[in-house]
Amino acid sequence: MRILLIEDESGIVEFVRKALRAEGHQVDVSCDGLEGERRALTSDVDLVVLDRLLPGREGVEVLRGIRAAKPDLPVIMLTALGEVGAKVEALDAGATDYVTKPFSVDELLARVRAHLRRPSQPEATRLSAGGIDVDLLSREVHRDDESVRLSAKEFELLVHFMRHPNQVLSREQLLSGVWGYDFEPQTNVVEVYVGYLRRKLGRPDRPVPIDTIRSAGYRFTVR
Ligand code: CA
Repeated sequence: MRILLIEDESGIVEFVRKALRAEGHQVDVSCDGLEGERRALTSDVDLVVLDRLLPGREGVEVLRGIRAAKPDLPVIMLTALGEVGAKVEALDAGATDYVTKPFSVDELLARVRAHLRRPSQPEATRLSAGGIDVDLLSREVHRDDESVRLSAKEFELLVHFMRHPNQVLSREQLLSGVWGYDFEPQTNVVEVYVGYLRRKLGRPDRPVPIDTIRSAGYRFTVR
């Protein structure tokens, strides 16, 4: 990814540039607000790290200029500790995020990573298998076109099964994946909820395809 750093303090420029390069980014540096704004607008950068106090043009003004032309370009603003209202002003002007000086390089890198994450493939919003249709947005569930009402946990368990078709899932994996337990409490909650799903989604001639695999767990079987 290509990152533009607009900052006039050479010490900060050096350590930020080094850290971003170590992460595999290409780094352009501009030490002047006006020139930095021009580069942000004319070159194909993926993210801007922008200082507030700059020669040439103030950071917030640079940010306004970038926002007017490139509303979706992530801009992380560097604000100084004690600048009352600076964060609010930066966010109001359209900063995607801000980091307060002095900052650790890990903090800046974490924010850069977060904002470079692009919506690649839109995540599927529907799951469909074994005669069961799930709308992940509206949380509606249909069995063979018939609407079925599930509780929140039943829904999560069903989605977990449908995302791992034909895979044997142990009780421990289900407890951790659906209930968030990393230990193994003495509970039969998995058995109970599998029972609920079978009852609500199964039809006399078409049982729900959640098979019990003896002494191993359960499997959502799709043929
Ligand atoms: Ca500065």
